[in-house]
Amino acid sequence: MKTNTQIHKGIVRLILAGLMTLILASPSLAQTTSQNKQLPNVVILATGGTIAGAAASGTQAGYTSGQVTIDAMVNAVPDIKKLANIKGEQISNVGSQDMSFAIMLQLAKRIAELAAGKDVDGIVITHGTDTMEETAYFLNLVVKTDKPVVLVGSMRPSTAVSADGPLNLYNAVAVAADPKAKGHGVLLVMNDWIHSAQTLVKVSTTAVQTFMSPLRGLIGTSAYGVNEYYRYPHNKFGSQSEFSVDGVTTLPRVDIIYADVDMPADLIDASVEHGAKGIVIAGVGNGNMNKAGLDACARASKKGVVVVRSTRVATGNVGRNVEVDDDKLGLVASYDLNPQKARILLSVALLKPRKLDEIQKLYYEY
Ligand code: GLU
Repeated sequence: MKTNTQIHKGIVRLILAGLMTLILASPSLAQTTSQNKQLPNVVILATGGTIAGAAASGTQAGYTSGQVTIDAMVNAVPDIKKLANIKGEQISNVGSQDMSFAIMLQLAKRIAELAAGKDVDGIVITHGTDTMEETAYFLNLVVKTDKPVVLVGSMRPSTAVSADGPLNLYNAVAVAADPKAKGHGVLLVMNDWIHSAQTLVKVSTTAVQTFMSPLRGLIGTSAYGVNEYYRYPHNKFGSQSEFSVDGVTTLPRVDIIYADVDMPADLIDASVEHGAKGIVIAGVGNGNMNKAGLDACARASKKGVVVVRSTRVATGNVGRNVEVDDDKLGLVASYDLNPQKARILLSVALLKPRKLDEIQKLYYEY
């Protein structure tokens, strides 16, 4: 039975949904604000997250993601309109814990359409930070444009004291509007740093400085809209990528299973029984697990399920045939991808049949 609070929340959601429909239909959000031909054109695709979050007070920890529209976010930083002509589109309005393959596929499709247009110079995606790694890396694999595609989020809701969203959004637009950002693949701009989608990891549950690129370092920096670029990504992306999600409506099931002391291997068998086409092990150390776990991985591999060994450790590569005989057991090493990104690569790779050694090669290349 629903409590009064649940009913109240339901009514608030309905009102917000109604407002959203009105706002989306209104020219102010969906259309470009008065065009300045000297400025680049940037489209902001909003998906929700803390950057669009709101709380009842500026100092409380509790808040709800995805409450503020893109219009309100841009209006909070009027100087953004001096960087670019801005168009906004609301793709979803969810906390990124509710991000789904369906929304990610919709995003990829919309980015492809927009990037093909001569009137679009760059694209910004506002997104929650919880699953930013997955969406950014997925888009890096499947979006075929050299135009800047920049994800941005915040750690503090829009109503917080010292909210970080407005300046993050300003810097993200500055990077998306910058011709020098072209050809770097999908980027994340937060807290003055520009990360590649391939390298970024979320390292803090609450701190503003939550994204790091530990092994390879930053692509560059963006401070108050002044950008510097230090390197190009080392991996394949964009037009070099062999992946396509044209016409794809769903991705194959790939499960992540966490390894730890005395891990019960029946979770791996259960995953196979429940129809997983791939399994990623968040292994201990260099992608290791106990003998029971390895035996179950070998069983899964014999049944045609692709098993990738990644690691629960924050940094470092998982090497092939180091402590585990991958050749003998029929396993794949994730190299520099953490479990959540290893899962995205495998989900996309399994859209067509591939041999194990071909899949291993993908982990070196992407
Ligand atoms: N759960 C929220 C989200 O991912 C919080 C994280 C954030 O956006 O900072 O949308």
